[in-house]
Amino acid sequence: MSLAEEMDAVTGTSAGSVDRHATSRTFESTDPATGAVVGVFPVHDEDAVAETVAAARAAAEQWAALGFGGRKQRLDAFRGYVARRLHELADLVHRENGKPHADAILEISLAIDHLAWAAGHARKALGQRRVRSGMLAANHAAYLEYQPLGVVGVIGPWNYPVFTPMGSIAYALAAGNAVVFKPSEYTPAIGAWLAAAWRAAVPDAVDVVQVVTGFGETGNALCRAGVGKIAFTGSAPTGKKVMAACAETLTPVLMELGGKDAMIVDDDADVVAAADAAVWGAMSNGGQTCIGVERVYVTEAVYDRFVSEVTTQVRELRPGSDDEATYGPMTMPSQIDIVNRHVQDAASAGARVITGEAASGRGYVAPTVLLDVPEESAAIREETFGPTLTITRVRDAEEALRLTNDTTYGLAGSIFSGSKAKAMDLARRMRSGMTSINSVLTFASVPALPFGGVGDSGFGRIHGEDGLKEFTRSKSITRQRIALPVNVMSFRRPATTADQLARVVGMLHGRHR
Ligand code: NAD
Repeated sequence: MSLAEEMDAVTGTSAGSVDRHATSRTFESTDPATGAVVGVFPVHDEDAVAETVAAARAAAEQWAALGFGGRKQRLDAFRGYVARRLHELADLVHRENGKPHADAILEISLAIDHLAWAAGHARKALGQRRVRSGMLAANHAAYLEYQPLGVVGVIGPWNYPVFTPMGSIAYALAAGNAVVFKPSEYTPAIGAWLAAAWRAAVPDAVDVVQVVTGFGETGNALCRAGVGKIAFTGSAPTGKKVMAACAETLTPVLMELGGKDAMIVDDDADVVAAADAAVWGAMSNGGQTCIGVERVYVTEAVYDRFVSEVTTQVRELRPGSDDEATYGPMTMPSQIDIVNRHVQDAASAGARVITGEAASGRGYVAPTVLLDVPEESAAIREETFGPTLTITRVRDAEEALRLTNDTTYGLAGSIFSGSKAKAMDLARRMRSGMTSINSVLTFASVPALPFGGVGDSGFGRIHGEDGLKEFTRSKSITRQRIALPVNVMSFRRPATTADQLARVVGMLHGRHR
């Protein structure tokens, strides 16, 4: 079956080959701009999820046995397959998530680059290596390697429906695991497309990547299915439910949660570049970006120029669904109420509101800039997840950093400054997992850099060597090379051994004060 035929089967009312399990309930996914049905998908129940995980478990053993070379070859085939169909997938992302085609291309390109990096670096990061055996085991060789967990359950959001789950999927696969992916109920067709692409590109390991579709209960069933780890990306409240469910079976979890990221603009910053980055970081993807810029703290010296530049740029934005649109509709209709509540709450607390062009049609939120918002407002404290931006005047970069860090979240952030030393110092003291200097979001496009947050933004890391290790357990082995005349770990050791050992330890370590 061709990919298009498979997708027809998946998106038709017959569940198609993605759904090997009988299930009667289905749900529709729709185009957020038009309401048109993109596809109809099965709601996988507990039994269907358990069956899928069982098939993945069997496949995981063969996948692990392929070794780094065999897996790299197949991951390369998968990436080539997706790359050759980049426009087809981007079109689906545009229809199901609502973002402009060009943004979908950017998102998929990033995911492909991560796939290449994960496959290419897994052996070096995880493969067996000798480590020093130390004084007490000098006659032994010591080995360390990182082994796969078996099946990794990936639960994903809808805002970056390719890039975000692939941050877990690519690294889990390269580390030797099979994956069962539960895409968001808002983007199931994209999840099904990725699974169909895997089956077509890697026909000898089809059960290594499988998709289950449905709502929260399907995700909950995956948490209870006995997988080796759950990689969850979504909101903090759902993350807590996922952890609670996983706690019952001591299933480990990776938590990639929300954020309230800030940008700091210092006295000597390039103000035009900072404004450009702030508008892109806040408004692209309709502001539905976990690492999007939600707050900006600008020093007095450049505040007026920055606000004026942001205002000019925001007025050039044009939300819509056509090829010229800068961003699309809100993917999840209920988010519009949250965005409006934050804006109205800020306005009634005295904030000045600057809005750009409002698109006609369903689901659009006009680009909105909020000035002088009190720090205790929802627009400053809660994740807004819309095309909005608060701009706050501060005395200096130190005050900006204090306010930036005054949040329960801690995902990412950015700094615009003319001084490398000062920017690096601020970046290191920013309480977040990632910071970019003189740009926004760049760390997400550097595969070698780990991605993840602190506090309410979660824990654990995708991307980079840490992201590979996240889906493994370390395995330590020692091998005796030569037997010593005296073995300290034996009941037969001479009575004097302990004293001799104490003397050696005293000579080696006792002089340190
Ligand atoms: P969400 O928490 O509503 O849903 C995420 C996923 O969890 C969906 O697939 C959903 O079906 C599933 N789910 C819901 N209830 C569940 C349950 N009880 N058990 C198991 N699974 C369950 O989040 P969303 O609205 O899809 O995504 C937006 C959020 O994701 C934002 O907060 C955003 O910041 C965050 N996000 C974080 C990152 C990151 O890497 N840190 C990346 C993208 C998005």
